[in-house]
Amino acid sequence: MNVLIVGGAGYIGSHCVRQVAAAGHRPVVIDNLVFGHRAAVAPGVPFYDVNLGDEAAVGKILADEKIDIVMHFAAYAYVGESVHDPLKYYFNNVVATLGLLRAMLAKGVKKFVFSSTCATYGIPEKMPLVETMPQAPINPYGQTKLDVENALKALALAHGLGFAAFRYFNAAGAAGDGSIGEDHAPETHLIPLAIDAATGRGPALQVFGDDYPTPDGTCLRDYVHVDDLSRAHIAVFPKLEKPGAALFYNLGTGTPTSVREVLQAVEKVTGKKVPCAGAPRRAGDPPALYADSSKAKTELGWKVKYNDIESIVATAWKWHSAHPDGF
Ligand code: UDP
Repeated sequence: MNVLIVGGAGYIGSHCVRQVAAAGHRPVVIDNLVFGHRAAVAPGVPFYDVNLGDEAAVGKILADEKIDIVMHFAAYAYVGESVHDPLKYYFNNVVATLGLLRAMLAKGVKKFVFSSTCATYGIPEKMPLVETMPQAPINPYGQTKLDVENALKALALAHGLGFAAFRYFNAAGAAGDGSIGEDHAPETHLIPLAIDAATGRGPALQVFGDDYPTPDGTCLRDYVHVDDLSRAHIAVFPKLEKPGAALFYNLGTGTPTSVREVLQAVEKVTGKKVPCAGAPRRAGDPPALYADSSKAKTELGWKVKYNDIESIVATAWKWHSAHPDGF
Protein backbone atom coordinates (compact mmCIF):
# COMPACT_ATOMS: atom_id res chain seq x y z
CA MET A 1 0.00 0.00 0.00
CA ASN A 2 1.04 3.61 -0.59
CA VAL A 3 0.30 5.27 2.72
CA LEU A 4 0.10 9.04 3.12
CA ILE A 5 1.07 9.98 6.67
CA VAL A 6 -0.15 13.46 7.48
CA GLY A 7 1.86 14.78 10.42
CA GLY A 8 4.53 12.16 9.76
CA ALA A 9 7.26 14.36 11.23
CA GLY A 10 5.52 14.53 14.61
CA TYR A 11 5.90 12.26 17.61
CA ILE A 12 3.42 9.47 16.88
CA GLY A 13 3.44 10.04 13.10
CA SER A 14 7.21 9.59 12.78
CA HIS A 15 7.10 6.30 14.66
CA CYS A 16 4.25 5.19 12.43
CA VAL A 17 6.26 6.02 9.29
CA ARG A 18 8.90 3.52 10.37
CA GLN A 19 6.38 0.85 11.30
CA VAL A 20 4.58 1.28 7.96
CA ALA A 21 7.87 0.80 6.09
CA ALA A 22 8.81 -2.16 8.31
CA ALA A 23 5.47 -3.79 7.46
CA GLY A 24 6.35 -3.64 3.74
CA HIS A 25 4.24 -0.63 2.76
CA ARG A 26 5.41 2.64 1.21
CA PRO A 27 5.09 5.71 3.46
CA VAL A 28 4.79 9.23 2.05
CA VAL A 29 4.85 12.15 4.52
CA ILE A 30 3.10 15.51 4.62
CA ASP A 31 4.02 17.83 7.47
CA ASN A 32 4.13 21.63 7.75
CA LEU A 33 6.89 21.35 10.39
CA VAL A 34 5.10 23.65 12.83
CA PHE A 35 5.57 20.97 15.50
CA GLY A 36 7.17 18.21 13.47
CA HIS A 37 10.89 17.68 12.89
CA ARG A 38 12.28 17.06 9.43
CA ALA A 39 14.96 14.85 11.01
CA ALA A 40 12.28 12.60 12.50
CA VAL A 41 11.26 11.37 9.05
CA ALA A 42 13.23 8.31 8.05
CA PRO A 43 15.72 8.98 5.23
CA GLY A 44 14.44 8.14 1.75
CA VAL A 45 10.77 8.66 2.62
CA PRO A 46 9.07 11.13 0.22
CA PHE A 47 8.42 14.32 2.19
CA TYR A 48 6.14 17.28 1.40
CA ASP A 49 6.19 20.46 3.47
CA VAL A 50 2.53 21.45 2.98
CA ASN A 51 -0.47 22.33 5.09
CA LEU A 52 -3.07 19.61 5.36
CA GLY A 53 -5.79 22.16 4.62
CA ASP A 54 -4.22 23.02 1.23
CA GLU A 55 -6.64 20.88 -0.77
CA ALA A 56 -5.04 21.50 -4.15
CA ALA A 57 -1.56 20.56 -2.93
CA VAL A 58 -2.86 17.54 -1.02
CA GLY A 59 -4.93 16.41 -4.00
CA LYS A 60 -1.89 16.53 -6.26
CA ILE A 61 0.16 14.46 -3.80
CA LEU A 62 -2.66 11.90 -3.48
CA ALA A 63 -2.69 11.48 -7.26
CA ASP A 64 1.06 11.69 -7.93
CA GLU A 65 1.95 9.21 -5.19
CA LYS A 66 -1.00 6.89 -5.97
CA ILE A 67 -2.07 6.93 -2.34
CA ASP A 68 -4.27 4.04 -1.11
CA ILE A 69 -4.65 4.97 2.57
CA VAL A 70 -4.32 8.22 4.51
CA MET A 71 -3.26 8.31 8.17
CA HIS A 72 -3.84 11.60 9.91
CA PHE A 73 -1.76 12.65 12.93
CA ALA A 74 -1.50 16.40 12.35
CA ALA A 75 -3.37 18.13 15.14
CA TYR A 76 -2.83 20.65 17.88
CA ALA A 77 -2.94 18.77 21.14
CA TYR A 78 -2.42 21.11 24.08
CA VAL A 79 -5.56 20.91 26.19
CA GLY A 80 -4.92 24.16 28.07
CA GLU A 81 -4.20 26.09 24.89
CA SER A 82 -7.40 24.74 23.34
CA VAL A 83 -9.37 26.31 26.18
CA HIS A 84 -7.75 29.72 25.62
CA ASP A 85 -7.59 29.65 21.81
CA PRO A 86 -10.44 27.44 20.61
CA LEU A 87 -10.51 28.89 17.11
CA LYS A 88 -6.96 27.67 16.49
CA TYR A 89 -8.11 24.17 17.43
CA TYR A 90 -11.37 24.20 15.48
CA PHE A 91 -9.67 25.56 12.35
CA ASN A 92 -6.72 23.19 12.39
CA ASN A 93 -8.17 20.05 13.93
CA VAL A 94 -11.63 20.22 12.33
CA VAL A 95 -11.72 22.58 9.34
CA ALA A 96 -8.33 21.59 7.90
CA THR A 97 -9.14 17.92 8.48
CA LEU A 98 -12.38 18.34 6.54
CA GLY A 99 -10.31 19.86 3.72
CA LEU A 100 -8.07 16.81 3.75
CA LEU A 101 -11.11 14.54 3.60
CA ARG A 102 -12.63 16.53 0.74
CA ALA A 103 -9.36 16.29 -1.19
CA MET A 104 -9.35 12.52 -0.58
CA LEU A 105 -12.91 12.01 -1.77
CA ALA A 106 -12.24 14.14 -4.86
CA LYS A 107 -9.42 11.76 -5.78
CA GLY A 108 -11.36 8.62 -4.84
CA VAL A 109 -9.15 7.78 -1.83
CA LYS A 110 -11.53 6.20 0.63
CA LYS A 111 -9.44 4.65 3.40
CA PHE A 112 -8.60 6.73 6.43
CA VAL A 113 -6.95 6.19 9.79
CA PHE A 114 -7.57 8.90 12.35
CA SER A 115 -5.79 9.78 15.61
CA SER A 116 -8.49 10.31 18.16
CA THR A 117 -8.14 10.43 21.92
CA CYS A 118 -9.48 9.23 25.24
CA ALA A 119 -10.11 12.95 25.88
CA THR A 120 -13.33 12.48 23.87
CA TYR A 121 -14.77 10.62 26.88
CA GLY A 122 -14.49 13.62 29.22
CA ILE A 123 -14.81 12.61 32.86
CA PRO A 124 -15.94 9.01 32.66
CA GLU A 125 -18.27 7.47 35.18
CA LYS A 126 -16.77 4.01 34.94
CA MET A 127 -13.36 2.51 34.31
CA PRO A 128 -11.87 0.87 32.30
CA LEU A 129 -13.22 2.69 29.29
CA VAL A 130 -14.90 0.77 26.52
CA GLU A 131 -15.65 2.27 23.14
CA THR A 132 -19.41 2.34 23.64
CA MET A 133 -19.29 4.55 26.73
CA PRO A 134 -20.67 8.09 26.42
CA GLN A 135 -18.39 10.73 24.92
CA ALA A 136 -18.60 14.15 26.53
CA PRO A 137 -15.33 16.04 26.12
CA ILE A 138 -14.57 18.73 28.70
CA ASN A 139 -12.27 20.87 26.55
CA PRO A 140 -12.12 22.11 22.93
CA TYR A 141 -9.25 19.76 22.09
CA GLY A 142 -11.34 16.67 22.91
CA GLN A 143 -14.37 18.23 21.24
CA THR A 144 -12.49 18.79 17.97
CA LYS A 145 -11.50 15.13 17.90
CA LEU A 146 -15.08 14.06 18.58
CA ASP A 147 -16.34 16.43 15.87
CA VAL A 148 -14.07 14.71 13.34
CA GLU A 149 -15.19 11.27 14.55
CA ASN A 150 -18.78 12.34 13.86
CA ALA A 151 -17.94 13.77 10.44
CA LEU A 152 -16.23 10.49 9.57
CA LYS A 153 -19.37 8.53 10.45
CA ALA A 154 -21.38 10.73 8.10
CA LEU A 155 -18.81 10.35 5.31
CA ALA A 156 -18.80 6.58 5.74
CA LEU A 157 -22.57 6.55 5.23
CA ALA A 158 -22.70 9.11 2.44
CA HIS A 159 -19.60 8.21 0.44
CA GLY A 160 -18.47 4.76 1.57
CA LEU A 161 -15.37 6.10 3.33
CA GLY A 162 -13.78 3.26 5.31
CA PHE A 163 -12.16 4.60 8.47
CA ALA A 164 -10.70 3.65 11.81
CA ALA A 165 -10.49 6.18 14.65
CA PHE A 166 -8.04 5.19 17.35
CA ARG A 167 -8.64 6.68 20.76
CA TYR A 168 -5.18 6.88 22.26
CA PHE A 169 -4.52 6.83 25.95
CA ASN A 170 -1.12 8.26 27.03
CA ALA A 171 1.33 7.80 24.17
CA ALA A 172 4.80 7.34 25.62
CA GLY A 173 8.27 5.98 24.94
CA ALA A 174 10.48 6.10 21.88
CA ALA A 175 11.74 3.86 19.09
CA GLY A 176 13.56 0.85 20.54
CA ASP A 177 16.79 1.75 18.70
CA GLY A 178 16.80 5.24 20.24
CA SER A 179 16.80 6.91 16.81
CA ILE A 180 13.63 8.96 17.22
CA GLY A 181 11.53 9.99 20.20
CA GLU A 182 9.42 12.64 21.86
CA ASP A 183 10.50 16.25 21.27
CA HIS A 184 7.73 18.75 21.96
CA ALA A 185 8.16 22.49 22.45
CA PRO A 186 6.83 23.32 24.92
CA GLU A 187 7.00 19.91 26.59
CA THR A 188 4.06 19.23 28.89
CA HIS A 189 4.15 15.46 29.23
CA LEU A 190 5.03 13.69 32.42
CA ILE A 191 7.74 11.26 31.30
CA PRO A 192 10.01 13.67 29.36
CA LEU A 193 9.59 16.32 32.06
CA ALA A 194 10.50 13.78 34.76
CA ILE A 195 13.58 12.72 32.79
CA ASP A 196 14.64 16.37 32.40
CA ALA A 197 14.14 16.92 36.13
CA ALA A 198 16.24 13.82 36.89
CA THR A 199 19.11 14.92 34.67
CA GLY A 200 18.97 18.50 35.94
CA ARG A 201 18.14 19.87 32.49
CA GLY A 202 14.71 20.91 33.71
CA PRO A 203 13.16 22.17 36.92
CA ALA A 204 11.80 19.94 39.68
CA LEU A 205 8.81 17.96 38.49
CA GLN A 206 5.55 19.44 39.67
CA VAL A 207 3.14 16.75 40.80
CA PHE A 208 -0.26 18.08 39.83
CA GLY A 209 -2.41 17.04 42.79
CA ASP A 210 -1.85 14.39 45.44
CA ASP A 211 -5.34 14.35 46.89
CA TYR A 212 -7.16 12.43 44.17
CA PRO A 213 -9.32 9.44 45.17
CA THR A 214 -6.62 7.01 43.96
CA PRO A 215 -4.36 4.64 45.94
CA ASP A 216 -1.47 7.13 46.29
CA GLY A 217 -3.48 10.30 45.70
CA THR A 218 -1.98 11.05 42.25
CA CYS A 219 -3.71 10.62 38.89
CA LEU A 220 -3.89 7.25 37.20
CA ARG A 221 -3.18 7.07 33.48
CA ASP A 222 -2.69 4.34 30.90
CA TYR A 223 0.77 4.77 29.29
CA VAL A 224 1.02 2.97 25.97
CA HIS A 225 4.16 2.69 23.87
CA VAL A 226 4.21 4.72 20.66
CA ASP A 227 5.35 1.71 18.59
CA ASP A 228 2.48 -0.37 19.99
CA LEU A 229 0.08 2.40 18.97
CA SER A 230 1.63 2.51 15.50
CA ARG A 231 1.24 -1.22 14.90
CA ALA A 232 -2.53 -1.00 15.44
CA HIS A 233 -2.73 1.53 12.60
CA ILE A 234 -1.31 -1.04 10.21
CA ALA A 235 -3.20 -4.02 11.61
CA VAL A 236 -6.45 -2.27 10.68
CA PHE A 237 -5.66 -2.01 6.94
CA PRO A 238 -7.59 -5.15 5.88
CA LYS A 239 -10.72 -3.88 7.65
CA LEU A 240 -10.67 -0.67 5.62
CA GLU A 241 -11.22 -2.62 2.41
CA LYS A 242 -14.91 -2.72 3.32
CA PRO A 243 -16.56 0.45 1.98
CA GLY A 244 -18.25 2.36 4.78
CA ALA A 245 -16.34 0.57 7.55
CA ALA A 246 -16.68 2.83 10.61
CA LEU A 247 -14.38 1.57 13.32
CA PHE A 248 -13.47 2.91 16.75
CA TYR A 249 -10.81 1.43 18.99
CA ASN A 250 -9.34 2.33 22.36
CA LEU A 251 -5.59 1.87 22.45
CA GLY A 252 -4.08 1.45 25.89
CA THR A 253 -2.39 -1.28 27.89
CA GLY A 254 -5.26 -1.38 30.40
CA THR A 255 -2.84 -0.90 33.31
CA PRO A 256 -3.49 2.19 35.44
CA THR A 257 -0.21 3.81 36.55
CA SER A 258 -0.02 6.71 39.00
CA VAL A 259 2.14 9.79 38.60
CA ARG A 260 4.21 8.58 41.56
CA GLU A 261 4.70 5.16 39.96
CA VAL A 262 5.92 6.86 36.77
CA LEU A 263 8.41 8.89 38.80
CA GLN A 264 9.64 5.71 40.54
CA ALA A 265 10.10 4.06 37.13
CA VAL A 266 12.09 7.09 35.90
CA GLU A 267 14.31 6.91 39.00
CA LYS A 268 14.89 3.19 38.56
CA VAL A 269 15.65 3.41 34.84
CA THR A 270 17.89 6.51 35.01
CA GLY A 271 19.48 5.70 38.35
CA LYS A 272 18.83 9.34 39.31
CA LYS A 273 16.50 11.00 41.78
CA VAL A 274 13.58 12.96 40.29
CA PRO A 275 13.35 16.23 42.24
CA CYS A 276 9.64 16.88 42.87
CA ALA A 277 7.46 19.68 44.09
CA GLY A 278 3.82 19.50 45.13
CA ALA A 279 1.49 21.53 42.91
CA PRO A 280 -2.25 22.11 42.66
CA ARG A 281 -4.41 19.89 40.49
CA ARG A 282 -4.23 20.76 36.78
CA ALA A 283 -7.58 21.92 35.42
CA GLY A 284 -9.35 19.27 33.39
CA ASP A 285 -7.44 16.25 34.71
CA PRO A 286 -9.77 13.35 35.53
CA PRO A 287 -8.52 11.22 38.48
CA ALA A 288 -8.22 8.07 36.39
CA LEU A 289 -8.24 7.15 32.71
CA TYR A 290 -7.46 3.66 31.51
CA ALA A 291 -8.57 1.59 28.60
CA ASP A 292 -10.31 -1.63 27.93
CA SER A 293 -8.68 -2.45 24.60
CA SER A 294 -10.31 -5.87 24.16
CA LYS A 295 -11.91 -4.73 20.92
CA ALA A 296 -8.54 -3.93 19.28
CA LYS A 297 -7.15 -7.20 20.63
CA THR A 298 -10.01 -9.31 19.34
CA GLU A 299 -10.67 -7.61 16.02
CA LEU A 300 -7.14 -6.57 15.03
CA GLY A 301 -5.06 -9.15 16.89
CA TRP A 302 -3.37 -6.16 18.55
CA LYS A 303 -1.01 -7.10 21.36
CA VAL A 304 1.23 -4.65 23.18
CA LYS A 305 4.93 -5.45 23.32
CA TYR A 306 5.62 -2.96 26.10
CA ASN A 307 3.51 -4.09 29.00
CA ASP A 308 5.02 -2.27 31.94
CA ILE A 309 5.92 1.32 32.69
CA GLU A 310 9.63 0.60 33.24
CA SER A 311 10.13 -0.84 29.77
CA ILE A 312 8.32 2.16 28.25
CA VAL A 313 10.38 4.65 30.28
CA ALA A 314 13.56 2.77 29.33
CA THR A 315 12.97 3.54 25.63
CA ALA A 316 12.25 7.21 26.43
CA TRP A 317 15.46 7.35 28.45
CA LYS A 318 17.48 5.81 25.62
CA TRP A 319 16.25 8.55 23.27
CA HIS A 320 16.64 11.43 25.75
CA SER A 321 20.08 10.43 26.95
CA ALA A 322 21.37 10.13 23.36
CA HIS A 323 19.59 13.35 22.21
CA PRO A 324 19.42 15.68 25.21
CA ASP A 325 18.56 18.61 22.91
CA GLY A 326 16.03 16.60 20.93
CA PHE A 327 16.21 16.68 17.15
N1 UDP B 1 1.55 15.53 35.34
C1 UDP B 1 2.18 16.03 36.46
N2 UDP B 1 3.16 16.94 36.29
C2 UDP B 1 3.58 17.38 35.05
C3 UDP B 1 2.94 16.84 33.91
C4 UDP B 1 1.93 15.91 34.08
O1 UDP B 1 1.83 15.69 37.59
O2 UDP B 1 4.48 18.22 34.98
C5 UDP B 1 0.46 14.53 35.49
C6 UDP B 1 -0.86 14.99 34.91
O3 UDP B 1 -1.59 15.70 35.86
C7 UDP B 1 -1.50 13.66 34.53
C8 UDP B 1 -0.32 12.76 34.18
O4 UDP B 1 0.83 13.39 34.77
O5 UDP B 1 -2.14 13.10 35.65
C9 UDP B 1 -0.09 12.62 32.70
O6 UDP B 1 -0.06 13.92 32.13
P1 UDP B 1 0.46 14.19 30.67
O7 UDP B 1 0.46 15.68 30.49
O8 UDP B 1 1.74 13.46 30.44
O9 UDP B 1 -0.62 13.50 29.73
P2 UDP B 1 -2.22 13.71 29.65
O10 UDP B 1 -2.79 12.72 30.64
O11 UDP B 1 -2.53 15.12 29.99
O12 UDP B 1 -2.54 13.36 28.26
